[in-house]
Amino acid sequence: MAYQKTFDPNSSTPHKLSRTKLDLFIECPRCFYLDQRLGIKRPSMPAFTLNVAVDHLLKKEFDISRSQGKAHPLMETYKIKAIPIDHKNLADWRNNFVGVRYLHPETNFLIYGAIDDLWQDENGDYVVVDYKATSTQAEIKLEGGYKEVYKRQAEIYQWLLEKNGLPVSKKAYFVYVNGKKDLAAFDGRLEFDTQIIEYIGDNSWVDEAINNAHQCLISDTIPKPNDKCEYCCYLESAKKVID
Ligand code: SF4
Repeated sequence: MAYQKTFDPNSSTPHKLSRTKLDLFIECPRCFYLDQRLGIKRPSMPAFTLNVAVDHLLKKEFDISRSQGKAHPLMETYKIKAIPIDHKNLADWRNNFVGVRYLHPETNFLIYGAIDDLWQDENGDYVVVDYKATSTQAEIKLEGGYKEVYKRQAEIYQWLLEKNGLPVSKKAYFVYVNGKKDLAAFDGRLEFDTQIIEYIGDNSWVDEAINNAHQCLISDTIPKPNDKCEYCCYLESAKKVID
């Protein structure tokens, strides 16, 4: 099936919208509009290749438990009554170019996002799992700033899996690895502390956000900038000086 990448209000072709772009709408409707309606993307950032490597290795590690049909030792430490599950669609759902997909009928948006892992609890409910890598001396908590993005990420995945007809637990887990900086030397290796953080998701906001994002894109008015955003402040200041 063909999809629109830049939204055309006069087209009946579904418009592909990743969970990241839906989050961009929540962050700033103007940036979302520039990107999705006018095709003007934010400047690209270098890839977080170390985080990608950690994700890749964690997937391999949890896949060992998956193939054995039992919990990972870390899950046992945290007394999580679930196992990594071998669902027939898991490879697609983990693939960034496929992901868990749902064609939202009200907006004709194809919403999608790639999960890191999928567990199944003792009730048969599916559990969203995301891997995160960081390096901090502070206690890791799911509060403040960009952690809200992480929570929404888990909630959209829960929503997508529900829309695919799966029974989904409200519990999601973040497998958090924290790079140690208090070692004597690098010695060609990074060491990590690993912890699992439970999060109870509430995806009741997702439908409304998708509908609002759609309203934004069908309008011919470009939304106002976010006056706290340093990029647009920079652009405005530069424009004033140049003009
Ligand atoms: S304020 Fe400007 S740069 Fe910042 S997010 Fe919005 S449109 Fe993008």
